[in-house]
This record gives sequence, structure tokens and C-alpha cells, in this order.
Amino acid sequence: MKLTVVGCSGSFPSAESACSSYLVEADGFRLLLDMGNGALGELQRHCGLYDLDAVFLSHLHADHCIDMCVYFVARYYRHEGGRCDPLPVYGPEGTEHRLTTAYADTPSASSMSEVFDFHTVKPGTFEIGPFTVHTERVAHPVEAYAIRIEHGGRTLTYSGDTGVSEALDELARDADLFLCEAAFTDGKEDIPDLHLNGREAGEAAARAGVRSLVLTHIPPWTDPQINLDHARAAYPGPVALAAPGATYEI
Ligand SMILES: [Zn+2]
Ligand SMILES: [Zn+2]
Repeated sequence: MKLTVVGCSGSFPSAESACSSYLVEADGFRLLLDMGNGALGELQRHCGLYDLDAVFLSHLHADHCIDMCVYFVARYYRHEGGRCDPLPVYGPEGTEHRLTTAYADTPSASSMSEVFDFHTVKPGTFEIGPFTVHTERVAHPVEAYAIRIEHGGRTLTYSGDTGVSEALDELARDADLFLCEAAFTDGKEDIPDLHLNGREAGEAAARAGVRSLVLTHIPPWTDPQINLDHARAAYPGPVALAAPGATYEI
């Protein structure tokens, strides 16, 4: 598997990065995890506008899904070749309604489904292209999922947005790469069931026995170095900060 960080800013974009979006490729199949603010532009640095094979939305906060509204425009009003075929989109209950409402004036209430094939995510195991994926609800104010992606004996786990979560620990068990949010800073923000801080991300990585940890979803108002230091103090394996355009062979 190849992972490309399309955008990794938490909550709102920074001058350097779009919000959450990660491209996962294997066997020529392209799965995009989340499409937050600014991600559609950055995505085009890494793959063609119409070359995605599936999208997984961890939850419906704007910083994880809102660029799907403008991606709808690109697929619905495509100038050459006509309207795009429906792209599989996996998201929580109500994803189609949320995106349609956010767009505000789609030609009809069902226009989104003409270019997106919506699948409602529940906790469980299923296939997306060549990937076997496992999803579980995590600790966030809205219905939110973490995802474990397996291919060719290798494993990537993405936390989505979550506070401390036993379900996340299980999904990350022995993962080769654990892409984990660390939006909060230990001692600065302390709101349960919302986000992890750097220490908690490191502790989750240690409990799960992952082989490497990449911290992501750090907001522009947070010092990433502090969160990185806290994660390294809690987890003995390799830890990196996600950066736009970074790639990982898993
Ligand atoms: Zn978020
Ligand atoms: Zn969120």
C-alpha cells in the first residue's frame, strides 16, 4: 500500500496544508480517506481529478467532508465526457443528505447520488476494492469511525477524529502504520471524547503495538513539536508528523 498525505491540518486549513485527506493506493486502486477543506485542490497534485475509485468519510464534520460538495460540481458538470459515473462513497448515516444540504441548490434532491454511490458505514468488516477494511465507532461528538485497512499482509489504521478509545486500540493492533490524530496538547486542552493529545496518541500506539506512528490533524494554533515530543515520550517506536505530500510505502 502507498499512503499519500493530501492534507493534514486539523479543524481548519493552515497556510501550508488543507484539512484531512489521505490517498491510499494498491493494485492501481485509489481510495481517498476524507476530503476536508482544500483537499480537492491538493488531491490533483497526486492523482487525476477523475481517477479516484472510492472515498471513505470518517465523519461529517466540515474539515473531513466538505470538499465533496465541490467535487460534486466537478463530477456532475464535467465538460468533456459527460457526467461521471457514480463513485462509491462510504460515510456515516445521512452523508448524502448532509452534502446535499451543504451544497444548498443541487438540481434535485437526488443529484448527488447521480455521481456518488453512497454506502452507509456501520461497525464491521467489508471490502473496498482490493482492501479489507474494519470500521468501528470512536469517541467524538458525532457518529465517527476509525478504519483499519489491510492489503497484502500489511495494515494501515486511520483514527479519524476521536478521544481515547478502546475500539481505536483494537483497530490499530499491530498495524504497520498508525495514522493518528493528535489535535490537542497535553495540559492545554482537556475535553473528553473529542480529540487525542500527543501523549494519548503515543499511549494508544504503545498499547496497540504498532510499528510506526504518524501524527496528524494538528490545528494551526497548536505547536506540532510539543505534541510530537509528548508522543515520543509515550511510544518507543518511530513517530513522524504528517506533512502535505508525504508518502509512505506500507
Ligand atoms: Zn477534524
Ligand atoms: Zn471531527
